[in-house]
Amino acid sequence: MKFGGSSVADPAKIQHVARRLVEAKQRGLRVVGTVSAMGKTTDGLIDLAHQVSPTPNAREFDMLLSTGERIACALVAMAIHDLGQVAISLTGSQAGILTDGAHMKAKIREIRGDRVKDALDEDKIVLVAGFQGFSRDTMDVTTLGRGGTDATAVALAAALGAACEIYSDVPGVFTADPRIVPNARKLPTISYEEMLEMSASGAKVLMLRAVELARNHGVRIHARSTFSDEEGTWVQEGASMEQPIVSAVTHS
Ligand code: ASP
Ligand code: MG
Repeated sequence: MKFGGSSVADPAKIQHVARRLVEAKQRGLRVVGTVSAMGKTTDGLIDLAHQVSPTPNAREFDMLLSTGERIACALVAMAIHDLGQVAISLTGSQAGILTDGAHMKAKIREIRGDRVKDALDEDKIVLVAGFQGFSRDTMDVTTLGRGGTDATAVALAAALGAACEIYSDVPGVFTADPRIVPNARKLPTISYEEMLEMSASGAKVLMLRAVELARNHGVRIHARSTFSDEEGTWVQEGASMEQPIVSAVTHS
């Protein structure tokens, strides 16, 4: 279960996310959550870096930016403890998310999910800090590029053989940006290929690389709202017989 920055933007929202994770656990599921940094934290950190240095050192930039997701993860874990469940937050490197060494745009090579699986076996809710990994080549913390928590979520789902739910402040994938086109319709399903095109041409609902990962590993993504129980959009294989020629309009 992945929650974006606007879903964890303040303490009350963090408590809400904690409740959603606990509810899933109480339905009998083994739950792994990943969260983005709170609200506009990452923008704030980037701004801060540039106030200190006109050309921030790439390694230190990733050290700085990766803190945002750690903060959010630790806070969600605390809120879960208050609900009477045991949770553990892990950094990307603690969770075994191994990447290449390319700072600010690292690619995930593999996930050594042992620590996550052990924690699940101990009946814990596991929180993994999004957007970050660790390079064995450089022994350094890396970040995955803007919006990278979606990639964390899909890669974890692939590694654990899990379904992937991506929660945000929009209830799914729409035929156009619902903030601009009020009568845009929510799509019940969309194929990987269509979603790839949409993400590549301006739709911000899912990160392009996350959709690529999902297609390559056959992970179904359920993109849905943090703030309601309604069914969202399933991103998955295959076209139906009556596939429309135009599915959606995007812009950038
Ligand atoms: N916090 C990072 C960003 O704003 C990663 C993410 O949101 O997924 O780009
Ligand atoms: Mg963010």
